[in-house]
Amino acid sequence: MTELPRIPLAGVIGAPIAHSKSPQLHRHWLKTYGIAGHYIPMEVSNDNLENVLRTLPQMGFVGVNITIPHKEKVMEIADLVTDRAILIGAANTLIFRKDGKIHADNTDGYGFIENLKAGAPQWNPRSGPAAVLGAGGAARAVISSLLEAGVPEIMLSNRTRVRADKLKQDFGSRIRVYEWVQAGNMIDDADLLVNTTSLGMIGKSELRVPLDGLRSSTIVTDLVYAPLKTKLLATAEDYGCATVDGLGMLLHQAVPAFERWFGRRPEVDRATRAAALR
Ligand code: NAP
Repeated sequence: MTELPRIPLAGVIGAPIAHSKSPQLHRHWLKTYGIAGHYIPMEVSNDNLENVLRTLPQMGFVGVNITIPHKEKVMEIADLVTDRAILIGAANTLIFRKDGKIHADNTDGYGFIENLKAGAPQWNPRSGPAAVLGAGGAARAVISSLLEAGVPEIMLSNRTRVRADKLKQDFGSRIRVYEWVQAGNMIDDADLLVNTTSLGMIGKSELRVPLDGLRSSTIVTDLVYAPLKTKLLATAEDYGCATVDGLGMLLHQAVPAFERWFGRRPEVDRATRAAALR
């Protein structure tokens, strides 16, 4: 009897998980490319995480995405961790290797840069400083990718100053920290403005950093994608700035994982955006 090929399984693990857009996205690509695989959302508690991760490969899983609150914890569980995940301090993608080892990577920074390149192809990372609002987990991925892309200086401001100082300590001398009350001052000189805080998201307060220093040549991007057009992006458009919304980052960060798991590099196009928004 001929042996049937094993159906590759992947998924996303978090707690809670019902809000995740990753299942729609990966299922869209599986269907588009006619791949006989499945992508499943899984709510797993902190206590069960290691057991679940060691069991999944035996059930045919080739890897999983990891989301809040497990992005740091999986770094301790994984057998191999990429340098960029170590630098960021968190992993969002696991690959279950054939030798039984769990490989952890972080593709958020990649997704951020690819989204920026796609949405603002005129952006030249080396042309001038970037201003970054926020110093949480997402900021670490954004900052590491901006530095890698060659941005000469990053002006950084966060409500809780010590978190911004820690980022400077971890990422080095190209970072200049501003007090949160002075965040508006860093915008005048920025070629790129990035909001990595959760401000502006549905259900959260608005971002109140003064934007009157914005130049029309500044590119403005927001990691928040609910709503798609945040107040920050709408104001930036009024100033004549090119803007890039946060949904594309979510789509692009998924590309390397899908390729590793299912063997096909997927396209991020209009249909992909529509699928993630369904
Ligand atoms: P996080 O680690 O919890 O960090 C939250 C950040 O927001 C911190 O800098 C925090 O400042 C700031 N913040 C929260 N409430 C604030 C307030 N009232 N005033 C001033 N600052 C405030 O979260 P994260 O993982 O970095 O995520 C941040 C945002 O990025 C979320 O909206 C998330 O959905 C989004 N995100 C999007 C993508 C994407 O693919 N588009 C990927 C990752 C994250 P403090 O340090 O002072 O608390």
